[in-house]
Amino acid sequence: MPGFEIFGDEERREVQDVLETGILFRYGFDAARKGRWKARTFERELARRTGAARALLCSSGTAALSIALAACGVGAGDEVILPPFTFVATMEAVVHAGAVPVFADIDETLCLDPAGLEAAITPRTRAVIPVHMCGAMARIDEIRSLCDRRSLVLIEDACQAVGGSYRGKALGAFGHMGCFSFDSVKTVTCGEGGAVITDDEALYARADAYADHGHDHVGADRGAEGHSILGTNHRISELNAAVGLAQFRKLDRILEIQRAAKKALKTGLSDCARIRFRELPDPEGDSATFLSFFLPDEESARKSVKDLSEAGVDGCFYWYDNNWHYLRRWDHLKQMRGAARLPMELISNPPDYQNIRLKRSDDIMSRAVSMLIKLSWSDRDIAERIERMRTVLKG
Ligand SMILES: *Cc1c(COP(=O)(O)O)cnc(C)c1O
Repeated sequence: MPGFEIFGDEERREVQDVLETGILFRYGFDAARKGRWKARTFERELARRTGAARALLCSSGTAALSIALAACGVGAGDEVILPPFTFVATMEAVVHAGAVPVFADIDETLCLDPAGLEAAITPRTRAVIPVHMCGAMARIDEIRSLCDRRSLVLIEDACQAVGGSYRGKALGAFGHMGCFSFDSVKTVTCGEGGAVITDDEALYARADAYADHGHDHVGADRGAEGHSILGTNHRISELNAAVGLAQFRKLDRILEIQRAAKKALKTGLSDCARIRFRELPDPEGDSATFLSFFLPDEESARKSVKDLSEAGVDGCFYWYDNNWHYLRRWDHLKQMRGAARLPMELISNPPDYQNIRLKRSDDIMSRAVSMLIKLSWSDRDIAERIERMRTVLKG
């Protein structure tokens, strides 16, 4: 999964290229930078690959979510529907936008269930953020048509799904905006970095301004730039963009390695009657960063994770108990522990996060196990892994 496993001369060369000019800032310095535009080049390549009209690099995936919410005009008091299985960043971005996270059930795609989404819509719902978890897609066509029908803003959290697609169209390209993360453990890494993509020029202009103090980036004199909106600083540096550019150009190779490993694993485990693989609305578009499967019940899932670890099968996750990725353990949200008073405390009846019940999600997550697929595995590593997994999962 993580692109850092295949760092090489390509990354070193791009970074060196930036250091030679000394221009680490992504804007301006036109003469001094000698034609080296790492952030801008990465943006063009990301837009081309995803089929989006525009891409904007930024400092993180979390920043990308904040930028997308701001650009789409989602803010104070707006309800935003999201799944309970994601990284805390999705929820944080909503909270810090002044909006209110509303959680809706997932299904066996491990992503937002369109029916769960529909049931969570209220007159205050403004936006929906489906998350393409563990490298693969939500039922994004159904979610998109529901959002169209109900006039809701659709922002895709594709932070874990760069390179993934649904019926040939890139994940992240279905919504008004799509968000990517290039943090240090993601498929493509900048060290720290992220991006938003969109087909809408007006949204792009607002995103571009918001991510850089509202500056409109018009004209050569930076000090004379106008401010269309209040913004902040979510910029990426040329150094981070340089690493990401080299990494992004390896994406096809990364996908090929992951998909081959996953195919071998699925074939090798196909007669393990106790497990059922995660549902994939379009298996062809899976970026294959993880192999996820379900055990019949919570008890056997817990036991399998323990047995797999004891059998030397590393990289297995039991998300149900995970502090980072599943709502059940987000005590800081449940107690609304903000650094300061949270905007959502000002609304008349904020959600009672302490007593949220998402029975369907709990049932699914309590049976789910995911295993990281590594780029560094040899054929022999994979064969051994299959043997070890079979002894645990066949029984
Ligand atoms: C990693 C991640 C983010 C946040 O990305 P950062 O670059 O670490 O800020 C957001 N959502 C999901 C689903 C992620 O996995």
